[in-house]
Formats: sequence, C-alpha cells, structure tokens
Amino acid sequence: TIRKLIAGNWKMNGSLGMLHELDGIAKATFNHPELDVVICPSFTLIAPAIVRQPDMTFGAQDCHYDESGSHTGCVSAPMLREVGASYVIVGHSERRIEQNETNEEIRAKTTTAIANGLVTIVCIGESRAAHASGQALPIIGAQLDGCIPPDATSDNLVVAYEPIWAIGTGNTPPPESIAEMHASIRDRLCLLLGSEGKKVRILYGGSVTGKNAEELMAIPDVNGTLVGGASLTAEQFVPIIEAGG
Ligand code: 13P
Repeated sequence: TIRKLIAGNWKMNGSLGMLHELDGIAKATFNHPELDVVICPSFTLIAPAIVRQPDMTFGAQDCHYDESGSHTGCVSAPMLREVGASYVIVGHSERRIEQNETNEEIRAKTTTAIANGLVTIVCIGESRAAHASGQALPIIGAQLDGCIPPDATSDNLVVAYEPIWAIGTGNTPPPESIAEMHASIRDRLCLLLGSEGKKVRILYGGSVTGKNAEELMAIPDVNGTLVGGASLTAEQFVPIIEAGG
C-alpha cells in the first residue's frame, strides 16, 4: 500500500509569530508515524520552522531550474537542501497564472529539484472554464506529459491534482469525478514512468478541511492531500492529519 502524504502549503502567509502553530502539528505528526506530513512555508520561514520543530519535515513552494547563477530574487534547489528542506512544490496554479510558468519550465524545475535530493510535488489542475467545457481530462494529460521527467520515481515525485476552481472556494468536486481524474492520472503516470507510476503519490488539493478530509482520502488513488488555508493553524490542520491516519 502507498504511504499517505499530508502536505500544507502556507502560500504567502505566516510569520515568525505563527510558528507556534507547528507545535500542535508536530505532536499530531509524531502520533501518526504511518503518514508523511510536510509543511511548506515561505522561503524566509523554512529555517526558523526547522529550528522550532527539528524533527518535522519541511518544504518550499518553488525553486529555480538552474542550480545557481544570475537570477535575481530566485532560490535554488541546492539552497533549499542546504537549509534543511526535504520537499518542494512546483507548478502551483498560482505560479502558472501569476508568474506565467509553463509545463516546460516546471519539468526543468522538477528535474533539478530531484537531482538535488528534493521530493518534488508537481501541481496540475484545470481552470473553471476548462472544467465547464469538459476539457479537464485532456488538459491534465497534457500537463503530466509536459511536466514529468521520464526518470522520476515514486520516491522523488508526488503529483498534486488541484482543480483551480476548487482552490480557496469551499467547493470540492464530487467524489466520483475526483476518482475518475485520479484514475486517469494514475494511468498516465504508468505510461510515463512504467511500474514506478503505480506507486507515485497522487494528492488531492482544493478546499480540503477537517470535515471533508476523511471522505476525500477514502477515494481510490487519492494518496493524501495538499492543503492551503486549513494548514495554517494546528486547530484546522490536526483534524486533517487525524483523518489520514
Ligand atoms: P485551499 O486548501 O486553501 O483551497 O488551497 C489549496 C491549495 O492551493 C494548496 O496548494
């Protein structure tokens, strides 16, 4: 069976004064050794978060596709490893939209992140318009084809399916459509990666809460969740960890 992963994406939220939230999250994490739990705060909070909870796992929300060089304002995969990050999220829809990230760049970032020992969470997801016009499946297929490096494995790659219209809206797709999408992602991963594709964790993200997490994680091929808003406090995130256990 596939080990579940519960990942928190703090986005551009959080502060030093909020890091006490990690204490309760850490306690729940250590109570569930059968799960992987990772928090991805802003770059500036990774080091202080590790100081606060050295035994927890942390990740970043982006990295550059080059390992170093003239890229003002960017952060590299080796820098993330050096400071103690174990994971990195790439290709989040907010970056695809606000920073115009392409599938090609996301694949290059994934390759570099993996080469530097980071477990890479590649985000895919269709827009509201694509969903409404019945184009979700082909768009997701094209995102996977474009973003997944051929030598990725289940140890270094995670895929997060986040329908854009479900992010921060309180709306989640019906369980049947999540099941259909995750099954199609699984098929595609097997085509791209062979037998490794069977073991890659596929997370669902978009309006995950303590109330819906258990139902979402019971859906076939949902191997965990990528949580935005509800990962910011122990009060909201701990019930999601409990639901995964
Ligand atoms: P919400 O959980 O706030 O809907 O955000 C989901 C998300 O974008 C996680 O990466």
